[in-house]
Amino acid sequence: MSYARVIRPALGATPVPTDLPEPGKPQPPIYPLQIGAHGAWLEVRASPSDGACGVHGYPCRHPGIDVAGAAGTPVVSPETGTVVMAGDGASAPYAGYGPWFVIIQGDDSGKFHFLGHLEPATSSMAPVGAQVGAGDQVGVTSSADHTHWEVRDRIVPNFAAGEDNFTNNSDPLGVGTVLLVGGAALFLWLLMRKRT
Ligand SMILES: [Zn+2]
Repeated sequence: MSYARVIRPALGATPVPTDLPEPGKPQPPIYPLQIGAHGAWLEVRASPSDGACGVHGYPCRHPGIDVAGAAGTPVVSPETGTVVMAGDGASAPYAGYGPWFVIIQGDDSGKFHFLGHLEPATSSMAPVGAQVGAGDQVGVTSSADHTHWEVRDRIVPNFAAGEDNFTNNSDPLGVGTVLLVGGAALFLWLLMRKRT
């Protein structure tokens, strides 16, 4: 399968190296970045028992990065921009992203940061129309214990034209590549170890 980047660590088990957040610079919505239970961009699950795959069947893909963080963890804007959408994730095309989500359009990238599974009705919730800087708090993590982060080209894929959440999205940090490099390093280490 062309999308096979297999990444499925346990919740919070895998810190991913990123640059320290700096004011005004792009950053993960929770820092330090840790990949959550659903894995990362274009995950392929190892077995049906690894989790429900919804409409995608099995094996399934995951169009975003789950960033681990216990309930109540501040979630910040990954980029300076504008909150263009917020809601409860209860109905199409945002069903499944609840209990609350925000979408921020980045000033520099022009892309849409979709942050899902936030706690609703908190004072830190960013309202539609708010201007936010990179690192400004836009919500808190819910009891889902992770924030789902997508980077979308459009707010909603053009389903009528055959787009879906995969063709419409980018890997937020190229995390799959980072972990593949880590895996290759581990493989080399194991090879070297056998020789001694
Ligand atoms: Zn997710």
